[in-house]
Amino acid sequence: MRPLVLVSPSIAAAGVEMPDPSISVAGAYLESVIRAGGVPVSLPLSDDPTLITDAIAQAHGLLLTGGEDIEPTLHRSSVSEALRATCFLDHPTRDSMELALIREAFRRRMPVFAICRGHQLVNVALGGSLYVDLPGERPGNVQHNQVERRFEAVHRVHVESNSILARLVEGPKLGVNSTHHQAVNQPAPGLRAVAWADDGVVEAMEWDSTAAASNGWFLSVQFHPERLAPTLAAHARLFEGFITACRAATSGRIPSPTS
Ligand code: MN
Repeated sequence: MRPLVLVSPSIAAAGVEMPDPSISVAGAYLESVIRAGGVPVSLPLSDDPTLITDAIAQAHGLLLTGGEDIEPTLHRSSVSEALRATCFLDHPTRDSMELALIREAFRRRMPVFAICRGHQLVNVALGGSLYVDLPGERPGNVQHNQVERRFEAVHRVHVESNSILARLVEGPKLGVNSTHHQAVNQPAPGLRAVAWADDGVVEAMEWDSTAAASNGWFLSVQFHPERLAPTLAAHARLFEGFITACRAATSGRIPSPTS
């Protein structure tokens, strides 16, 4: 049986049929999961704890997608109005829903693949910090917000050799796309950075060696492999690694965090 992958949605009211806060998921995420051998299912916009518990209990993996910025007070005690004005925030229920999904998935040692906003939110969920406005708070020589070129590799990342990411991309460097306004600052306790852009910005994270022993498969990336998977095999292999871990969960085995 193919593993069932919960995919966190964006919120996009549109047209006559969806005037209320309706869900929206870029087809590239769903196609990438299908091509890698999984069955993608999206979720409603809800942070109801029992709904989330029951959804996670019936799934084999969690895919956290990209989206708008994260509410800065979730990881900072005070935020100036000027700094807040640089953000384009997502629906507040999306923050609370995804935080609940992350906590429940990790509690069950479920494989989790977190992309862009998801990569940042996992860091917040575990007590790490973000740059709220990357270009203003950490100016560097890499342009990280290249929306017009979102289907192209626009900057490279250096990959830690002893990592899930290095094994999947099969090398020390990877070309990535980059469409982010925020970024990971301090990785949370239990997490370690495993890829960096030339300017030092954290572009991927995994469990550190201590946390890996007691947790399921986890990889987070700041870039968007779902947009590059159709043309660049290394990016497709990230989904294949994730689905392989999810498949182990369908047979009741706890997936190895190192495979
Ligand atoms: Mn980047």
